[in-house]
Amino acid sequence: MRGVQAALPAYAIEVGTEPLDRPMRNSVGGWAFLADGQEWPECFCGERMALFFQFDIPFQVEHFGGDHLLVFHCRAHNDAAEPQLSGGRLVPRYWDAPQPPYPRPFWRVLLQRHAVLPAAEAEPSVRAVPLMLQPFTDTPEAEGPGAGFFKVGGTPSWAQDPEYYTCACGADLVYVCQVPEGMEFAVHPGLPEQPYSVGADTYNLFLANEVYLLACPAHCDPAAVWPVNQN
Ligand SMILES: [Zn+2]
Ligand SMILES: [Zn+2]
Repeated sequence: MRGVQAALPAYAIEVGTEPLDRPMRNSVGGWAFLADGQEWPECFCGERMALFFQFDIPFQVEHFGGDHLLVFHCRAHNDAAEPQLSGGRLVPRYWDAPQPPYPRPFWRVLLQRHAVLPAAEAEPSVRAVPLMLQPFTDTPEAEGPGAGFFKVGGTPSWAQDPEYYTCACGADLVYVCQVPEGMEFAVHPGLPEQPYSVGADTYNLFLANEVYLLACPAHCDPAAVWPVNQN
């Protein structure tokens, strides 16, 4: 029997409207803050992945406070993520492992302490706007389910049954951030359309599924994050 736990720290993520003209750490699109020597992620198809959003995780969020979260996804590949398991854990180096029918994942999520340098050039497709984080009370109990909007911390809203995964390193992944179903990211005009996306001038993540980012609390690798997709 578990007692009633206090609500976990949670922050609603609000998307600004004023276009960014300089690097900001909390942004949709914009200048990716990467570690020294870290390359901008590329998809197996050769396309540079689009930076959908990035932000600094508030210090109050357990395990990940102070980390910088970046979510990249290929424009040309739009699909749902399917967990590949081995011996009850996600497969070794699951962030680079085959994602049938693809030879590698078509996304990259990074969660890292050392994200000090803004890329020289901004993300070219997704329109750059700021993100603002506002604390809110997600649920009175830590078990949830939590609110269904764009947020960090709190508890997942789970459109279907909860999903839990164990990292290849042996640590149980912990929920950190949620992207709501159908969330659209505005792109600059004249770009190639994303397959299966709703609007010609927007891209989405994982076929516009609701996305729950589960990350390794042991920080065994900056890419040790699994994107659960549900709808
Ligand atoms: Zn691709
Ligand atoms: Zn791990």
